[in-house]
Amino acid sequence: MSQLTIALTKGRILEETLPLLSAAGIEPLEDIKKSRKLLFETSSQNVRLLILRGVDVPTYVEFGAADVGVSGKDTLIEHNSKSYYEPLDLHIAKCRMMTAGIKGVPQKSGRIRVATKYVGLARQYYAEQGRQVDIIKLYGAMELAPIMNLCDEIVDIVDTGNTLRANGLEPRETICEISSRLIVNKASMKMKHREIEALIDAVSAAVNERIAA
Ligand code: AMP
Repeated sequence: MSQLTIALTKGRILEETLPLLSAAGIEPLEDIKKSRKLLFETSSQNVRLLILRGVDVPTYVEFGAADVGVSGKDTLIEHNSKSYYEPLDLHIAKCRMMTAGIKGVPQKSGRIRVATKYVGLARQYYAEQGRQVDIIKLYGAMELAPIMNLCDEIVDIVDTGNTLRANGLEPRETICEISSRLIVNKASMKMKHREIEALIDAVSAAVNERIAA
């Protein structure tokens, strides 16, 4: 049997991914949350797990350093590559990519400044809307930017909306729905077809069971 390397996104996506892997018979041999290690052997002898920052997962899979990855759709859109397959929606870590601005302040007409971590996605969205924007790349704390007059709007992930509300902002338009996806290296899909098909089938069954519950 060929060795399968699965790249996982640490944080909230990891927490929701592990039960799906577990239902598919893949359990890490150590408690990932209590360890500083980044590579874990599992109960399945031919499967090992890598714990990465989300933005790095598509890169590992694209170059074949991992055969399979789990990544948020936001990250995949921003990565903007067709060099891996995306065979399965895991229906976990669901949220929305939205525009947001200061509560009660109407959307400005004409050219606006938009701060976001998701530069490619935001640029594409405003272009589709026929809106003129200057995009400012930020790496975090986007909610602060409109209040501090750095921008008119932000593009960010919204789940409950609590983060926006706590910072005096309100959601405006939904750009797209986000969830985590299973991605597969193209060469691995050919060379390790049997193992990867089995993994996709098992995880898919776990996803369906979770949705039905
Ligand atoms: P909330 O306050 O529940 O709307 O959560 C919003 C913040 O949590 C965002 O700024 C995101 O950084 C983060 N967040 C929420 N859900 C997700 C998710 N599924 N994937 C990545 N980040 C998320």
